[in-house]
Amino acid sequence: MSEPIMFSDLALSEAVMRAVQKVGYEQPSPIQAAAIPILLAGGDILGMAQTGTGKTAAFALPLLSRIDTKQTDPQILVLAPTRELAIQVAEAFQKYASEIPGFHVLPIYGGQEMTTQLRSLKRGAHVVVGTPGRVMDHLRRGSLNLNNLKALVLDEADEMLRMGFIDDVEWILEHTPKTRQTALFSATMPKEIRHVCNNYLNNATEIKIASSQSTDANIEQVYWMVSGTNKLDALTRILEVEPFDGMIIFVRTKTATVELAEKLEARGYSASPLNGDMNQQLRERTIERLKTNKLDIVIATDVAARGIDVERVSHVVNYDIPYDSEAYVHRIGRTGRAGRSGKAILFVAPREKRLLYTIEKATKKPITLMELPSGATVTKHRIDQFTQQITDTLQAQSDLTFFNDLLAEYSHKNDVSPEQIASALAYLLQLERPLQVKFTDVKPERERSSRDERGGRDERSGRDDRGSRDGGRDRGSREDRPRREHNDENMDRYRIEVGRNHEARPGDIVGAIANEAGIESRFIGHIKLHDEYSTVDLPTGIAKDVLAKLKKVRVRNRPLEISLDTGPRTGGDEFSRKPKRDFGPRDGAPREGGRDKPRFGERDGKKTSFRPKKTD
Ligand code: AMP
Repeated sequence: MSEPIMFSDLALSEAVMRAVQKVGYEQPSPIQAAAIPILLAGGDILGMAQTGTGKTAAFALPLLSRIDTKQTDPQILVLAPTRELAIQVAEAFQKYASEIPGFHVLPIYGGQEMTTQLRSLKRGAHVVVGTPGRVMDHLRRGSLNLNNLKALVLDEADEMLRMGFIDDVEWILEHTPKTRQTALFSATMPKEIRHVCNNYLNNATEIKIASSQSTDANIEQVYWMVSGTNKLDALTRILEVEPFDGMIIFVRTKTATVELAEKLEARGYSASPLNGDMNQQLRERTIERLKTNKLDIVIATDVAARGIDVERVSHVVNYDIPYDSEAYVHRIGRTGRAGRSGKAILFVAPREKRLLYTIEKATKKPITLMELPSGATVTKHRIDQFTQQITDTLQAQSDLTFFNDLLAEYSHKNDVSPEQIASALAYLLQLERPLQVKFTDVKPERERSSRDERGGRDERSGRDDRGSRDGGRDRGSREDRPRREHNDENMDRYRIEVGRNHEARPGDIVGAIANEAGIESRFIGHIKLHDEYSTVDLPTGIAKDVLAKLKKVRVRNRPLEISLDTGPRTGGDEFSRKPKRDFGPRDGAPREGGRDKPRFGERDGKKTSFRPKKTD
């Protein structure tokens, strides 16, 4: 294998390099290694890459490296198909520019107050990330000045096509300086996108991250669609029942290796991190401990795990999906060594399902869907372990006379049977780790049609029912979504009068609430669909007038008629959403109130009503 390209080989600016260090990226992903040098040199690119490949950093890092913060007119414009993606990309820019003083990025999308956007645009932004419709509006009004634009990025171009934005995109391209640099990213390459590339890209370098790799026949490959349960809980459930010897768990960042190792250690597993920050000696020692049974689980980044050859590694877990099939094949090749059989488990977030399909296609081997171990399975496993301990103790301890006498006396004195005493002792023994386990499992949204979906079909409609083109689409999980419980201190459960029978989908509900009542989608929690109605978790203390407005909002042509939910909590299709916990100010200003994280609807410790941001 040739020497890997490192970030230090890529000539990114010092400030950007510091930010990369800070977020803990160890090595550029393949699309980053290929795209960054070209974008840094001012070239155009056509990147065929899907979500999960690291494509956002592939354009953000080089473009930020060339930004001039003294110039306040937008220098970079990113077009994204949905408001959710626009926000995500803007957040990514903010993260990668954290070491660039005075940097401003502005997301603009439909559904957001125009006046807020106008004011922000007036203040100036170095990078604008927007949905095509809203960007067009601002260009027409003259509120967005692109005369000094240096670079234009079209993110998820095929999605913009699918959602009917392609004419708008071309219109915007026509209204930007011809001298601009252009980068287009698309997971697929339909002819309309080819046409855009031919007409608007200049001598573009085509980057395609897909390689055909074969995997070992003796490795069983399964995936779990991240849904309903967070990844850490899912992992611990798997660890409980999977008969593993040694295990390597792959994550994306150095920081994650350490964090996950600590969490597993806290749960009683012998686990250690393995990452590029550790010196050679320490890394070798860790692998040696794995070889000699002193350590069972290693949590590694791709770089650090390169070439590990430990026979007892029976399992590889891809906790974070790899960037491409090559990395996948390399990772899972750490098991099934020396003719043994191995198992590879892959966690796939809903938005990464295309990447799963790509990996499957490239490796020419099916990766089958796995169910998380059920409560009954875990219970059976714990009971087996428990009874085995009794058998082992009876066999190993030749002299239990002292305990026999003690309990015989107790039995006699208190007139209880030996079984009753044994039950009490067994109960006491399992208090910390109960033998009977129950999980409230949520059927993942994707599981029901997962096979169809893997052909790349996406059942979510592009435009929502109310004609708002930019809003309304729930982009699904941001990877690790713990299930929101109703008793979450920040949320109340509301009932809305649309349900499955009205063909309502979670995306419609999020879109309607977000767009029409102006509650940002990041504050919208758990959604549960029933036949005739649904429930949705919203921040506590929503203002009365906002609720009144929400009552009239329509989904599938039916008014929501929202009311506080007082019904039973059973049944329904659940859709976990994780509203951001950080409800504080977004501009880095000091937080109000005494606590570190003020609760929604609280100010200076007093209850206030939650209402969407006003324009003035
Ligand atoms: P994207 O394909 O842009 O949606 O990125 C997918 C995920 O990969 C995001 O969570 C990024 O933070 C993460 N990521 C991007 N580049 C790297 C890198 N070089 N090392 C580790 N993680 C990365």
